[in-house]
Amino acid sequence: MAVSTPHERARPLAKGSTYPAKDLCSQCGLCDSRWVAYVKQSCAFLTQRFEAMETAAHGRSRDLENDDELYFGVQQRMLTARLQRPIEGAQWTGIASRIGMLALETGLVDAVLCVGQSPDDRFTPVPQLARTPAEVLAARVNKPTLSPNLKVLEQLPGSGIHRLLAIGVGCQIQALRAVQPTLPLEQLYVLGLPCVDNVSRQGLQTFLESTVSSPQTVVHYEFMQDFRIHFRHSDGSEETVPFFGLDTPKLKDVFAPSCLSCFDYTNAGADLVVGYMGATLGRQWLTVRNPKGQQLLDLVEAELDVAPVTSSGNRQAAVQQGIEAYDKAVKLPLWLAQLIGLVVERFGPKGLEYGRFSIDSHFTRNALWLRRNHPEKLEAHIPAFAQKIISRYRLPKT
Ligand code: FAD
Ligand code: SF4
Ligand code: SF4
Repeated sequence: MAVSTPHERARPLAKGSTYPAKDLCSQCGLCDSRWVAYVKQSCAFLTQRFEAMETAAHGRSRDLENDDELYFGVQQRMLTARLQRPIEGAQWTGIASRIGMLALETGLVDAVLCVGQSPDDRFTPVPQLARTPAEVLAARVNKPTLSPNLKVLEQLPGSGIHRLLAIGVGCQIQALRAVQPTLPLEQLYVLGLPCVDNVSRQGLQTFLESTVSSPQTVVHYEFMQDFRIHFRHSDGSEETVPFFGLDTPKLKDVFAPSCLSCFDYTNAGADLVVGYMGATLGRQWLTVRNPKGQQLLDLVEAELDVAPVTSSGNRQAAVQQGIEAYDKAVKLPLWLAQLIGLVVERFGPKGLEYGRFSIDSHFTRNALWLRRNHPEKLEAHIPAFAQKIISRYRLPKT
């Protein structure tokens, strides 16, 4: 039975004419659709509603006393995996794309919301409702820039799409979950990607130009668990740059304000999350949040090489030092950056502990950024789980 569709009552399109979150807008696309009518109660940057979202999507909110849930959200299973036959050109091994393809092949859904690329620029995202496995495959690999995924909701009415799989990052999924009861859909499945430090297209250019030898030939990059950024160039060559060698003074302002105020790193509202940061190098990390997430995993599980999650090392001293180094915006000489990188890689956090390292580092940085740039939002915007994590560290006083 179709869910009621008050979208018909929504006020006419004000396509992109207004973004009420102003400088904090992540361009999630909701305001480029008629669902802009619901923006006040749906925008991740206007209303923080993690508990309500988790309860509606998973039947309960996360258990703050359970450290795995505190960090990684509501879950019934966490695992690491890789496709036995990785998809060429995918971001990692291609589990996200393969699930999208199988969801269409098996008839689980009529369409997959995914992000293709502009014919003129590989890093300019083009959200789409893919109707064939080939279209999902063509949309593989990250477009590491803000993507207006929800603008394609505009195409739903009259499209014949009743069951949808949406692939997206946290801010997009928060808004999607908020308007879910008003969508003309019988079923919605959500495959979430973890996400931090996203940038506008211009911000990406600044990042590449300050970090890599040949910015125009980069076709793929990822912040890896070996504390290095791995860049792949169009001729197939690889270049790695240690995190600790980044030009912090130049890059401090490169990330989008939305992403400097975001606490949805692990995509709390998704049914299934497919990332990498809780796994060791070369593997992907999956969190099944609810039975629909397991249904998505069931589609692909026979094609996976699966292993349990692991965890080792201790992140806390490194996070505390990172807070102070970031605050002073120091740029280390390359030799020292490489040395620190080697030591941390050898003795530092791995598996889930690496995931916690990254979450701690980003949540503390973002709390500081909010305090300095949007003090009026500090209290209401940071969810309880993030407050608990942040309280484990000493932040600079001002
Ligand atoms: P593929 O099969 O290559 O599919 C990639 C999917 O990403 C495609 O379905 C495409 O539709 C979708 N996509 C591409 N660009 C965007 C976009 N801009 N917005 C929304 N969806 C998009 N994982 C971590 O563990 N830690 C991180 O810090 C982290 N940061 C990320 C930041 C961004 C901006 C993005 C897009 C992803 C991030 N991820 C992160 C997820 C990770 O990089 C992989 O995307 C994920 O593990 C899936 O890999 P895959 O090989 O299965 O994906
Ligand atoms: Fe609208 Fe999305 Fe921007 Fe919020 S983040 S103002 S919902 S486009
Ligand atoms: Fe959205 Fe947060 Fe990712 Fe920025 S970091 S694109 S706000 S999920």
